[in-house]
Amino acid sequence: MDNPLSVDLKVFGKDERGIYYQETHRAIIYLNNHESLDDICHTITHEVIHHCLRDYEEIDEIQEESLIFSMAWAEISIF
Ligand SMILES: [Zn+2]
Repeated sequence: MDNPLSVDLKVFGKDERGIYYQETHRAIIYLNNHESLDDICHTITHEVIHHCLRDYEEIDEIQEESLIFSMAWAEISIF
């Protein structure tokens, strides 16, 4: 697999829950901004989807966030 995703977990950090860096294919998850393990898993999923969409240039960053938001709610409606 070319340029696999690397996920780093930080105990303290920024105000964000997670950040995906397209240039380095790295996601950082800030644990202190989560309420539960399930919450952390959702953020990891969010950043993994960013990684999967990294080469899809047909949508901008705001559209990408909206797509991921819709995917999360769609997953809940399926189960
Ligand atoms: Zn995002």
